[in-house]
Amino acid sequence: MLSIKNLHASIEDKEILKGINLEIKAGEVHAIMGPNGSGKSTLSAVIAGNETFDVTEGSVELLGEDLADLAPEERAHKGIFLSFQYPVEIPGVSVTNFMKTAINETRKANGKEEMPANEMLKLIREKSELLEIDRKFLSRSLNEGFSGGEKKRNEIFQMAMLEPKLAILDETDSGLDIDALRIVANGVNKLKSQDNAVLVITHYQRLLDYIIPDFVHVLMDGKIVKSGGKELAYELEEKGYDWIKSELV
Ligand code: ADP
Ligand code: MG
Ligand code: MG
Repeated sequence: MLSIKNLHASIEDKEILKGINLEIKAGEVHAIMGPNGSGKSTLSAVIAGNETFDVTEGSVELLGEDLADLAPEERAHKGIFLSFQYPVEIPGVSVTNFMKTAINETRKANGKEEMPANEMLKLIREKSELLEIDRKFLSRSLNEGFSGGEKKRNEIFQMAMLEPKLAILDETDSGLDIDALRIVANGVNKLKSQDNAVLVITHYQRLLDYIIPDFVHVLMDGKIVKSGGKELAYELEEKGYDWIKSELV
């Protein structure tokens, strides 16, 4: 699904990613953990095509296709979903209407016709029931006055509707409260299949109590320095990151 080889990325000549290698297969959930400032959010931004970072070496491939020349929207159309991509408030545009536009744009980019209205309604009904999102929520203005939990719910709804091949969830440093964590985890667990993959980026172990990863990688100073199974997350929770540092020297 995703293949990252020797990825180096910089911002203003400061190198942040220093040779990342990562292979994610369909059906897998990978977690990236690491101390603050290690480059986790940079990695998710670079995969999504954020142009504030310069890729100086290496490659990112989705289903065998090199993404180097693709803009963020093009990557999204190919099936990369990054949470926190649409945190904008759009007064007067409902959650539903925003979704309809996003879906039809994606279809257009992939050479498909607009989704017929009845099919769209069916999809909205199906996904909102799956995620236990109520009707009233769907008609509210996008992100306007949304609580943290509602923003998460909206994001997960977007993810469910768009059915991405690769979903990247970057739990920001601000952290999520327990309800928001459950919303995210519940959504991810329901949407996970053999045809998609999930990359969960998190500073803390707690999200991984709800989304069980197949693999855990530790990112430190722009490099993946250790990989393991889900038990690695518990080890990090217990012992912090310093023991890895000392293992490295
Ligand atoms: P993490 O998500 O692991 O906390 P980040 O990827 O946010 O780490 O940041 C990694 C490093 O890159 C930090 O030293 C941070 O200061 C720097 N950095 C990130 N974004 C920018 C930016 N827009 N401008 C300058 N430096 C940045
Ligand atoms: Mg940070
Ligand atoms: Mg971060």
